[in-house]
Amino acid sequence: MKKLTKALCCCLALCFVLTFAFTLAGCNTSPVKNLIYIIGDGMGFNHIENTKLYMEVDQLNFEQFYAGEVTTHCADSDITDSAASATALATGKKTNLDYVGLDPDGKKLKNIMEISKSYGKRTAIVTTDVIGGATPASFSAHAESRDDTVDIIKSQASGKVDLLVGKWSSAYAYSNKKHFDEKGFAYTESVDELKTMQSGKIVGNIQNVDSIYNPSADNPTSLKTLVEYALDYLTKDNKKGFTLMVEGAYIDKHSHEQDIMSMIYAMMDLNDAIDYILEWVSKRDDTAIIFTADHETCGLQKAENKDALDDDLYTADYHTSANVPLYLYNITTDQTLFDNTELFHLAKKIVKNR
Ligand SMILES: [Zn+2]
Repeated sequence: MKKLTKALCCCLALCFVLTFAFTLAGCNTSPVKNLIYIIGDGMGFNHIENTKLYMEVDQLNFEQFYAGEVTTHCADSDITDSAASATALATGKKTNLDYVGLDPDGKKLKNIMEISKSYGKRTAIVTTDVIGGATPASFSAHAESRDDTVDIIKSQASGKVDLLVGKWSSAYAYSNKKHFDEKGFAYTESVDELKTMQSGKIVGNIQNVDSIYNPSADNPTSLKTLVEYALDYLTKDNKKGFTLMVEGAYIDKHSHEQDIMSMIYAMMDLNDAIDYILEWVSKRDDTAIIFTADHETCGLQKAENKDALDDDLYTADYHTSANVPLYLYNITTDQTLFDNTELFHLAKKIVKNR
């Protein structure tokens, strides 16, 4: 009898272990293996509202995926900069102003691109900023200051991002190309040449990256064009999935200039890129999107109507601590208020196929 009880206990224990193991395995059946992390630099709620007033539309496509608000403070300030905030979005840790991919003690933090690579994913960053700008840098480099350009470029060249594409700048083009050459990156400054480059490590410092809505831009290359190329590159002969970070940088930069029309042109350029992405993801079930901002810039108020769109709607001289909007595609959560560090954890789940 004693023997029988023992055998029964063993059997039950085995059943329990097997059930647990199958449950765990069951969790790992998500078809979602691709992550697109989109950042509207400096994009508060009213940057979107005023853009809609100008465009005379009630809603932009991405707004149907509204998921809540995000707090943006950093380790040493209620009002963050792009470096500290992008570090939080990319690594899940708060850090100090100006720090790029380092914790407040100066220790390297593992970013989502490095984690993606450890899962065999292809990785890319496309931005309307220079590739060493604070936001792309915090997703691809480690440096004590966002102004340590050479450190950032060297770190990116030896880092885990396969494709880095941004706006051309003489500083990046001439003094930093050699760091990428040394690490085996192919390099181009032409979008036409870029489109012919389909594999290997690639860096593009692309001339004339600008909003097609900016009347003073000369034959601009839009963010949408860069995104189209990046998605082709990321999916060519790739079964393991990818992580792509897309940044619209000039919402922030034009807000610093308190130039509302240029800001709106930049927002429309980002919106076009997102429309393309939404169309692209709608044809498949393997891609999730996290779209947010790193912080609000210059306390922008909402105009009463299109005619009232004016530079005076900016009410602050710098970034503010206002919460920023969050949009999620193919990610389910009941949470509606997030800290920016928590978005990293959502991103990590996608990367790990959990
Ligand atoms: Zn800024």
